[in-house]
Amino acid sequence: MQKVWGILLAFIFLTACGENKTTALDTEKTSDIQEKSIPRNIEKYGFNLNDFAVVEDTIRKGDIFGELMTRNKVDYPKIYQLTQEYKDTFDVRRIRVGNPYTILKSRDTSEIAQVFIYENDPINFTVVDFRDTVLAYRGRKEVRLVEREASGIIPPGGSLSNVIVEENIDYLMVNELSGIYAWTIDFFKLDAGDKFRIIYDEKYINDSIYAGAAHIKAAYFEHKGVPFYAFAYHNDSLDLREYYDDEANNLRRTFLRAPLKFGRLSSRYNLRRKIRYYGYRVRPHKGTDYAAPIGTPILATADGMVSESTRRGGNGKYVKIRHNGTYSTQYLHMKKQNVKQGQFVKQGEVIGWIGMTGNTGGPHVCYRFWKNGRQVDPLREKLPAADPLAEVLRPDYYEYINPVKVQLDCIEINEAPSDELLTLNQ
Ligand SMILES: [Zn+2]
Repeated sequence: MQKVWGILLAFIFLTACGENKTTALDTEKTSDIQEKSIPRNIEKYGFNLNDFAVVEDTIRKGDIFGELMTRNKVDYPKIYQLTQEYKDTFDVRRIRVGNPYTILKSRDTSEIAQVFIYENDPINFTVVDFRDTVLAYRGRKEVRLVEREASGIIPPGGSLSNVIVEENIDYLMVNELSGIYAWTIDFFKLDAGDKFRIIYDEKYINDSIYAGAAHIKAAYFEHKGVPFYAFAYHNDSLDLREYYDDEANNLRRTFLRAPLKFGRLSSRYNLRRKIRYYGYRVRPHKGTDYAAPIGTPILATADGMVSESTRRGGNGKYVKIRHNGTYSTQYLHMKKQNVKQGQFVKQGEVIGWIGMTGNTGGPHVCYRFWKNGRQVDPLREKLPAADPLAEVLRPDYYEYINPVKVQLDCIEINEAPSDELLTLNQ
């Protein structure tokens, strides 16, 4: 009987995927939108541009707001009034080189600037209206979200960030993926053949200008053949948006897998390590080394109290954090600490930077994991998970994720050699 169900399910699964088989096309469509030229938008920033003579430019090096306005025939008292009354809305000293601005001038021969609009970023802008009494306020362009499906496979010697770039996926997804799976997957030790599928939103302004990616809605990451699902879930009775797996387990753990976002695991915890320098005698290594360039931020792997932040002998500059009665962690060879003894730190907080202080042959952090006062291998510790989803929310959760999971499973993964993709994208 079970077998029959299996076949039936497989059939349903296939049909569902068939309907949805537009991944590659969708991808092309979205990049098309970016290049299409926009028809002149008459309504912009809440003004009818036909009513004005419009000047569009970007802030250049050496531009001073006051001079820019005087050049456009705004009276000095009005500029002064703006700087006095609207400092919080628009700080004229903080205009940034390269940011676009628009000046709306009167259409008569006077050509006096009536409105100045500064783009704080691709989505937010500030309007300064000089027409009557000076007025400044902020606005926000309408953003349309376009759902995007993407996937990738780690080639031999490749990294997640390479694949993200090659597949034309927003670079934010490197952070998103390594953030979501920071407790479950060791991104320092990905294998060739590890693969992922993601669903996320891209933001577009006026349906045409790409304005970055939003958070991942759902993800699938296959590491060493083991699947890990992640679904963003929010419910009014939950404070936070959290990621749960397909069995409603929280993806967060009490400890991050590594104290760095990026880098290379260079030496594992090894009680029988032999070093040539010491005549191949056993020199146990009770830490886990992560190599990264000098200055790379070192993160607290869990919440806790800084019990030591000092410099001592071979350890160099280091930080030790007490997390609870059982666990402490220690981070050696820092260039500089970012925390003081007695300070409380949150998981993921920058506590210092990679350096070479103390006894070390190259820039790395030696990460030491203490359990009941003894050093253990963090990569072998079974670390407790954060709270799973409450029982009462599960029916709603499963109802929400079931179709998303099917959509996720249906995203095709391009297994073609990556150099072919590279030439396509250049
Ligand atoms: Zn070490």
